[in-house]
Amino acid sequence: MRILEYPDPGLKLEARELDKESVRHLRTLVRRMTRAMRDAPGIGLAATQVGVQERVIVYEIDDELTALVNPRIVYASDECAVEEEGCLSFPGLVVPIERPVRVVCDGATAEGEPVRIEADDLTARVIQHEIDHLDGVLIIDRAEPDERKAALKRYRQERL
Ligand code: ZN
Repeated sequence: MRILEYPDPGLKLEARELDKESVRHLRTLVRRMTRAMRDAPGIGLAATQVGVQERVIVYEIDDELTALVNPRIVYASDECAVEEEGCLSFPGLVVPIERPVRVVCDGATAEGEPVRIEADDLTARVIQHEIDHLDGVLIIDRAEPDERKAALKRYRQERL
């Protein structure tokens, strides 16, 4: 499963919600996404990054693998932090991005069971980053305008 890299237009597509009938197909998708994420290697991947416009994300932090279907942020803290963020669709690039430090995320497991995840720090950041992908939003879209310009310049130079 190939991970799309910027400026692939597929990264700007919005993913659609999944219903219960999709469960069988989901196990295969989650397995393939997990393999692609680990091979990269990375700590998070959204289905849109592998050309599938369905609301599915996987992430793996501290050896704990989580797959979420139809993830939705239902709470985000007022407290924010700026951290350098990378992305498997922008190899070699990191961009400082401000995000809430704590979130609560509702969704479903790959088996279709409802799940609520309370996350902070790195996990909260990864969840927000991957949900952004499902909406076609990339790290450069979250960066300050000056930083976006500089980041794209660095990225293009590195890929020549
Ligand atoms: Zn990413």
